[in-house]
Amino acid sequence: MASQKKQCILVTGGAGFIGTHTVLQLLREYYRVYIIDNLHNSVPEAVERVKVLAGPALSANLHFHVGDLRNKDDLEKVFTQARFDAVIHFAGLKAVGESVEKPFFYYDNNIVGTLNLFELMTKYDCKKMVFSSSATVYGQPKKIPCVEDFQLQAMNPYGRTKLFLEEIARDIQKGDPKWRIVLLRYFNPVGAHESGQIGEDPKGIPNNLMPYIQQVAVGRLPELNVFGNDYPTKDGTAIRDYIHVMDLADGHVAALQKLFNTENIGCIAYNLGTGHGASVLDMVAGFEKASGKKIPIKFCPRRQGDATAVYASTEKAQKELGWKARYGIDEMCRDQWNWASKNPWGYHSQHP
Ligand code: NAD
Ligand code: UDP
Repeated sequence: MASQKKQCILVTGGAGFIGTHTVLQLLREYYRVYIIDNLHNSVPEAVERVKVLAGPALSANLHFHVGDLRNKDDLEKVFTQARFDAVIHFAGLKAVGESVEKPFFYYDNNIVGTLNLFELMTKYDCKKMVFSSSATVYGQPKKIPCVEDFQLQAMNPYGRTKLFLEEIARDIQKGDPKWRIVLLRYFNPVGAHESGQIGEDPKGIPNNLMPYIQQVAVGRLPELNVFGNDYPTKDGTAIRDYIHVMDLADGHVAALQKLFNTENIGCIAYNLGTGHGASVLDMVAGFEKASGKKIPIKFCPRRQGDATAVYASTEKAQKELGWKARYGIDEMCRDQWNWASKNPWGYHSQHP
């Protein structure tokens, strides 16, 4: 058995899609984990399933608090429960379209929530953070692959919350060099844990490609609208860098280890992607192969603000975090189908 680690990690948004998969990996690495989540986009059942997957011994190291980052009292309650060695900060709203319609909600939730978190971390002298950023901060990249030192640009209020929070994190670290902050820029997280017990369960009609395809495959939606088939790409559809959520989870464990081991890390960004681009039609074909189901598609106009092709340069994460994605499209589709076929209504037993 690996040596027992006992560092204590606060995971905000730990009941969500990426959070649950990361918490499971943290428990398996013997970290003690506290989750704070307001359940805006998640359900307690997801955390229960993480406990089952971790088993009785490791799940004893997991504590779940329902609370909202916008409420300092909720945060204070958690910070008085344990002494945290680091925070992984997932909690946030992430739907681009909704952010255009409700910008205040997004700025309030993502920015105010994070400022409160920084305040409480400062008060309790916990100055190590891994932050969920996004490839959205590259905007419409002029060159691909995206390299971490590219100029940043945001295309919508959601993207701006990520960009502003990156800037805020850099300023906070500059003001007090005791801070160590890793900004992880995720590309397109998909897939699910191989057990099929946890996965992505969006509320309402999904905005993202893979949850949408999944719901077509299980019969919840009739067909996939493919946004644009006139892009200058091999098949006319847009290219993205899809990454298996378990690879992403392992990237967080690598980032934490880097934080603990590197005194002068400052505030540093890493891409978490595979470095490979796949088109919308590649993903449809991958899911059809994994599920044995035909995914009916309809070609539609381009979605406003969508870039032609976005994929990551993975060199920095590989060199400095010692992390590299292991899974390809076949595994992503296989595991997402396993989750979908076992849980056609997500964490609900029927139409929620
Ligand atoms: P998710 O919605 O599944 O998880 C986020 C969790 O945070 C949810 O459980 C939600 O209830 C919680 N939350 C939101 N606001 C909160 C608040 N004020 N207080 C407490 N809890 C709150 O999303 P996810 O896909 O797991 O994404 C996690 C993070 O990664 C987000 O910050 C997101 O912006 C970022 N990200 C996601 C993607 C993606 O495609 N999934 C891509 C890039 C970046
Ligand atoms: N997409 C699509 N139909 C959908 C959802 C997405 O054709 O119902 C396309 C979208 O235009 C983009 C790709 O799939 O080219 C990935 O979109 P997603 O929203 O998942 O991620 P992002 O745009 O944030 O990279």
